[in-house]
Amino acid sequence: MNASKLSIVDLTKRYAPGMEPAVNRLNMHVEEGHLVALLGPSGCGKTTTLRMVAGLMDPTAGSIIVDGKDITHTPVNKRGMGMVFQSYALFPHMDVEQNVAFGLQMRKVSGAEQRRRVEEALDMVQLGHLAKRRVRELSGGQQQRIALARALVVEPTLLLLDEPLSNLDAKLRETMRSEIRSIQQRTRATTLFVTHDQDEALDMADRIAVMNGGLIEQFGSPTEVYERPRTRFVANFIGQANFLNATVLSEDGPASGDERFYKVQVDGLGRCGAVGRPGLAGNSQELVIRPHRLKVDLQAKPEDDPLAGTIERISYTGDMLGLSIRVAGQLIDAQLLTSSAGVPRLGDSAYLSWEPADAYLISETPGEE
Ligand code: ATP
Repeated sequence: MNASKLSIVDLTKRYAPGMEPAVNRLNMHVEEGHLVALLGPSGCGKTTTLRMVAGLMDPTAGSIIVDGKDITHTPVNKRGMGMVFQSYALFPHMDVEQNVAFGLQMRKVSGAEQRRRVEEALDMVQLGHLAKRRVRELSGGQQQRIALARALVVEPTLLLLDEPLSNLDAKLRETMRSEIRSIQQRTRATTLFVTHDQDEALDMADRIAVMNGGLIEQFGSPTEVYERPRTRFVANFIGQANFLNATVLSEDGPASGDERFYKVQVDGLGRCGAVGRPGLAGNSQELVIRPHRLKVDLQAKPEDDPLAGTIERISYTGDMLGLSIRVAGQLIDAQLLTSSAGVPRLGDSAYLSWEPADAYLISETPGEE
């Protein structure tokens, strides 16, 4: 296993004595060169965590280790971190070049070296031609890229980004997303990225830390947190999900990794297949299945004993068809690509089935990595 670039150990922040901690014994290990998204709802402690890593705020307890050194009490200006925050706060009275050079001047880098590195950083964000522009003459996206260049030019030990795209309009946000990601991949800057936007996290991150109530509920790759959510909270926060209560009847052989196939009885509905961690036979579990992974048959009941229901709600968006299907008292959401065969009607029958690998048995209680 690679050594961690950043380790956060039992990090805790209580803003006032007796208050619930904003960050509660959080643990996380970030590999060199990775972009890690801290993802979670408003108030879950993302910014507080980032500010402690930056050195802008003292933790109540716990430690922050970078490159094997404990920097928990190292002052902010000695941490060598690059930061970009929501309001990018460039210096309006300076031109682009002066803004980017600022951190190098603070570090007393020589004039020639400064010029070389500023040019390189501006090239990286593709704004070399704007070097002499005043900041106030730039668009929001250009300012954001300059803020990024200013953070990268000092070759930071860690790059810390706090909702850097939230001030931009939707289209620009998407462009900047892929730009930041490609710049990050080129520079291999180990990056912590705060966002409450699941798509942004799935699109950009090597690893996602899904936070809730000051804790990490799951730390994993985008596909892990989406396909194999450890908790109901994670399944709900990242994408849409149906939850079914099920009793695990028996194991049905090995699946991928250390997972097993199981036969399960979905409460009040029927029998089906699912996957989960080892050792779940005999348990009551919650089963999570994504709407677009459900197979919906509108014509006739196929052989393999699907769940039969009635369509209660239809949403048609041209390319996609969203169906809410009532199956034995429970409403299940499905999503299909449309076809020229037309749209079903309310009250029509629908038969649901799924591949066992697409139904995941949530098996863990919330907790940290
Ligand atoms: P958002 O997405 O809204 O920025 P967040 O996940 O970044 O939220 P934090 O800003 O870290 O959350 O806040 C975590 C908790 O700490 C919240 O309950 C918040 O109200 C509280 N908090 C944040 N700053 C302070 C402060 N200066 N004093 C007291 N409580 C604070």
